[in-house]
Amino acid sequence: MSIAIIQPRIAVIGAGIAGAACAAGLRRAGLDVTVFDKSRGVGGRMATRRVEWIDPSGSVFELEFDHGAQHFGARHPRFKLEMARAERAGVLARWQPHIHTAWPELPSQTSLVAVPNMPALARHLLDRLPLRSEHPVHHLERDALGWTLVMGDRRREGPFSSVMLAIPPAQAALLLAGHEDTWANTLQLVRMEACWTLMAATEDFDWPWDAAQPERGPIAWVARNERKPGRSAPPGVATWVAHATPAFSKAHLHESPEAIAAELGRALQALWPANRPLQWHHLSAHRWRYARPYPGVRSAEACWWDGTLGLGLCGDFLVGEDVEAAWRSGDELADTVAAALEESPLCS
Ligand SMILES: Cc1cc2nc3c(=O)[nH]c(=O)nc-3n(C[C@H](O)[C@H](O)[C@H](O)COP(=O)(O)OP(=O)(O)OC[C@H]3O[C@@H](n4cnc5c(N)ncnc54)[C@H](O)[C@@H]3O)c2cc1C
Repeated sequence: MSIAIIQPRIAVIGAGIAGAACAAGLRRAGLDVTVFDKSRGVGGRMATRRVEWIDPSGSVFELEFDHGAQHFGARHPRFKLEMARAERAGVLARWQPHIHTAWPELPSQTSLVAVPNMPALARHLLDRLPLRSEHPVHHLERDALGWTLVMGDRRREGPFSSVMLAIPPAQAALLLAGHEDTWANTLQLVRMEACWTLMAATEDFDWPWDAAQPERGPIAWVARNERKPGRSAPPGVATWVAHATPAFSKAHLHESPEAIAAELGRALQALWPANRPLQWHHLSAHRWRYARPYPGVRSAEACWWDGTLGLGLCGDFLVGEDVEAAWRSGDELADTVAAALEESPLCS
């Protein structure tokens, strides 16, 4: 009797940093991977928003705001190694902002930023992998041939031997219900903090700091976007991204973006010297419903893998609440799946 080894076909749902790390690791192991994301671009919460701005002379410019994660750190040796590679490839830079807290001033600290914008890191990891963007996976079906992904508009993709979920817990719970109810029920309990984010452009002037952590008021963190490495703004324009505190974001979750933009704009104005009224070129707000896991949310394992079903799960919330945690979870899932498939390849 001859045994045919069936080449595993793997779907990764989610092209944030966890999904990108997972897909890159699976490709490194020689596996056939296709990535799906509901958005037009990649990067998930490592996001950059572009808006058009017309100056008083009628010239049209694009303003850019890193309105999700603005910067991140690298502590784990594997992540540091991967980020060193990304730096050599020119998609990562060190940022040493002059950070102001009212009292006293924080020493400068070095963070990492993807260049020219935050999604560049996921784009780099996913380089040339088959990517289906604008594919919102609505539910999963499983039969003898494997998994089929069914999109919101009923498009179908499959069959896949395994599916990796690299999406936030609430969304993952919806796809897992009926297939892995224990996981789904656990994920429903994972609490995520919301975050209102202000994107603002003002006239440029000589402001002494690049970022600030106000001690009071609704803003937790604000940074000058165009002063980050690899960014720019139209001449004479300064761009700002401010994240509201978790308490403010929770209390104002259901208010309109316009009302929030006005309120956070006033808070930003209050950080300026009193005699310096700001001239606004742009003011808008974005609500992140699921911005970050509550601090302290962790799983015993960095990723979850059910070899019987061919189902995997990764994401920041399993390891921590930041970019590094997301990458580590995705990378670990790739290693786990590659090792499992090497041990017991699918046979017919
Ligand atoms: C406002 C804000 C500020 C932050 N600040 C920092 C910071 O300073 N430093 C730091 O390290 N981290 C920060 N973070 C956290 C960091 O961005 C996240 O921890 C990390 O990016 C999470 O990556 P992920 O891949 O796990 O999830 P995500 O980035 O959320 O990726 C999930 C992907 O799945 C896609 N998706 C979801 N559902 C479906 C579906 N049904 N079908 C198809 N695709 C789907 C989404 O479109 C998304 O691309 C911040 C986050 C926010 C929102």
